[in-house]
Amino acid sequence: MRFWILFTLIVFTAYFAIQRTMYPQLNHNSVVDRISHPLDTRLRYRIGEVDPRFNLSKEQVQNLAQQAADIWHVGTMKSLFVYDPNAQLSINLIYDQRQAESTTRNQEMRILENTQQYTQSEKQKIQQLNAELDTANRELDIQKSNYQNKVDQFNQLVNNLNQTQQNLNASARLELDQQKNQLVIEQAQLKQQLDDYNQKVYSLNQQVNQLNAVNQQFNQSVDQFNHRFQPRQFDKGVFDGKMIQVYEFESDDDLRVTIAHELGHALGLDHNTDPKALMFPTMKEQNLQNFHLTAADLAMLNSNNR
Ligand SMILES: [Zn+2]
Repeated sequence: MRFWILFTLIVFTAYFAIQRTMYPQLNHNSVVDRISHPLDTRLRYRIGEVDPRFNLSKEQVQNLAQQAADIWHVGTMKSLFVYDPNAQLSINLIYDQRQAESTTRNQEMRILENTQQYTQSEKQKIQQLNAELDTANRELDIQKSNYQNKVDQFNQLVNNLNQTQQNLNASARLELDQQKNQLVIEQAQLKQQLDDYNQKVYSLNQQVNQLNAVNQQFNQSVDQFNHRFQPRQFDKGVFDGKMIQVYEFESDDDLRVTIAHELGHALGLDHNTDPKALMFPTMKEQNLQNFHLTAADLAMLNSNNR
């Protein structure tokens, strides 16, 4: 009898030991979990502390953690993680200076985006005005040359009359005076139009200068922004063997990929060198909205399990 108890114990211990080397994630399940789910090789996780300053409920974090786990599930076609409110491994959102910095970064980013939108819409307005002024300029040229033709004709007429030294009757003289008055009126109108046009050109140039100044300021701000906020390390999240601590993220997409990265460490993975990979140490080139594991991530996982 005692032999069989011992034998069973040895078999179970050996089974758990072998299972553990084949599925490194099991290192982070509690002994109780493993005995109560002996065939389940999934890493069990729960949501621990969520600092209220992140403005996320535990349920929201749980959803995002589920999506993070699904990144692995979709990429490997294996079920590696499962939510369990009694799990040993907890995922915690800890608020500190890093998140404060991230909030500042977000705010400054929004200001830059607003400025960029403003300069783009101003640029469009200026282009529109410019096109209108071009048309106005062409119309003015036509009017100027029409007016000049009329003046030439009138002068020609007066010259002819002077040369032939005809005595004009009263009605012809009246007609000439009327023509002359008409020309004077047209000249005044034309001058008014030219003044208006020049005024518009002047104000357009001022707008262009203002826009250039804003643009210059904007470029300086972008430089300052890039200098102050370097690409972010994944050390905004940490996996210490018992817990995943997340200290900083700037969006749900960011948090999902950060948790997925730390879950990768929980699978026993180290960092890799593919900038688009989940296990690259820096978050920069990854597609956060629609992330898929890269070949580099999967290669690590496969060599890890062998
Ligand atoms: Zn890492």
